[in-house]
Amino acid sequence: MLNLTVTQAAIAMGALGDVENGQDIQLSGVCTDSRVLRPGEIFFCLSGENFDGHEFAGRAMDGGAAAVVVSRPLPELAGRAPVLMVRDVLQALGALGAAWRMAAQSTVVGVTGSAGKTTVKEMLAGMLEAVGETGKNYKNFNNQLGVPQCMMGLTGAEAFWVLELGISQAHDMDELGAMVRPDVVVINNIGPAHLEGLGSLEGVAKAKTDLLRYLSDGGAAFVCMDYPLLWDCAKEIKPDVIGFSAAGAETPYKGEYLGPLENGSGRFRLTLRDDVLEFEAPFMGTYFAENMIAAAAVAHSMGSDIAAIKAGILAASVPEHRFQICEAGPWTVIDDAYNANPLSMRRSMDNATELAGQRPLVLVLGEMKELGDGAADLHRELGLAAAKTGARALLWFGGHADAVRQGLGNGDWPGIFMQTDEPRNLKSNLAELDLDGGVVLVKGSRSCKMERYVRELAGNQ
Ligand code: ATP
Ligand code: MG
Repeated sequence: MLNLTVTQAAIAMGALGDVENGQDIQLSGVCTDSRVLRPGEIFFCLSGENFDGHEFAGRAMDGGAAAVVVSRPLPELAGRAPVLMVRDVLQALGALGAAWRMAAQSTVVGVTGSAGKTTVKEMLAGMLEAVGETGKNYKNFNNQLGVPQCMMGLTGAEAFWVLELGISQAHDMDELGAMVRPDVVVINNIGPAHLEGLGSLEGVAKAKTDLLRYLSDGGAAFVCMDYPLLWDCAKEIKPDVIGFSAAGAETPYKGEYLGPLENGSGRFRLTLRDDVLEFEAPFMGTYFAENMIAAAAVAHSMGSDIAAIKAGILAASVPEHRFQICEAGPWTVIDDAYNANPLSMRRSMDNATELAGQRPLVLVLGEMKELGDGAADLHRELGLAAAKTGARALLWFGGHADAVRQGLGNGDWPGIFMQTDEPRNLKSNLAELDLDGGVVLVKGSRSCKMERYVRELAGNQ
């Protein structure tokens, strides 16, 4: 928990204001929502599209805020608690986070990639717990708003911090890198995600590897070798980068998916230099081998033994809507509704196809957002890939339906394509297919809220 005085915070943020009144006031934490403010916290008046945090500064003071950070004067509050003026409140939050990180004793690991960051973060934190106390981001708080708040929720006395870093614009990584100054970086993949902001796959590789520029002196980097653009960019910035692979590349750190088990679990093998670990885990698919080896390579090099690595994987609570499997009558429902981009869609469809085996597969998919100019082409490719799964039907939610349908057609697909604009009809749509049951994969971008389809079929699981 943050342990700074108001004056120290003001200096870290380059703030102007009436710090005299708060010189010795100790901050107990940071807060951006006056409804949950606890006395002693410093309140940041952040503004979004629909709200202006400055309007809540008075309420924050009523609640016992030790200071408020503003970007415009609030004369009506003068004298009640220190009002610290900055040019940009979000940047000031980042600057305070950066100061807290610099004061921390912890070894900081930055985790990034296009898909699987939260999974890697959870697994790695579990593996490192066996070596020393480990802090991590709360849930998916991985951007310039969430990361500093998570860091300031930690004491800095932990042995390790494992921080997931997510970006959607090229400059995001510079801001996060400068704030986090990682001692270790792990990048598990790249894919065409957030192309609106990052431009192209090259842009994604460049933006992700920008994190390597912020490594602390003597820091280490672990990067997946299975993505040539990523690997080349990483080597250029950090020639001694350590590679890992889930696709058979030559490296001491290898992950292998050995195949599914009946209960939705899979068998995996990890090679960590001279240690080889083979086990069952409640996950399926090559992409989990990629996530596991990303986490395990780092943990192994930081002192976790193979028992701790296995325990970390088994204990990882993969957050909800990430390829969770449940049964609903004759249907096995895969809830992968959390989010989607072209990489995760492809991987997820591969996994679902494997899980289905001889059983019929039905895809209930939603639009992939934020893909910029190439969106139609990427949806056409999705259609083509969907056709190759041999699925019996594809129910589509959201835009780019025509592109998906074209892709399906080029894949010479004999299945049924239906558009759906709400979940209510899902059961009757499935009944129309005249199947005795099978496997249903539900996935789409976050804003599609595809979990509604899972609920329609499987209730509140
Ligand atoms: P976000 O950018 O939203 O924070 P994330 O990178 O943290 O996402 P996770 O939350 O771990 O990723 O997983 C999200 C989805 O990405 C999963 O449901 C799964 O479909 C897919 N996924 C996870 N790992 C991989 C991987 N290694 N390769 C491809 N897809 C993956
Ligand atoms: Mg995440």
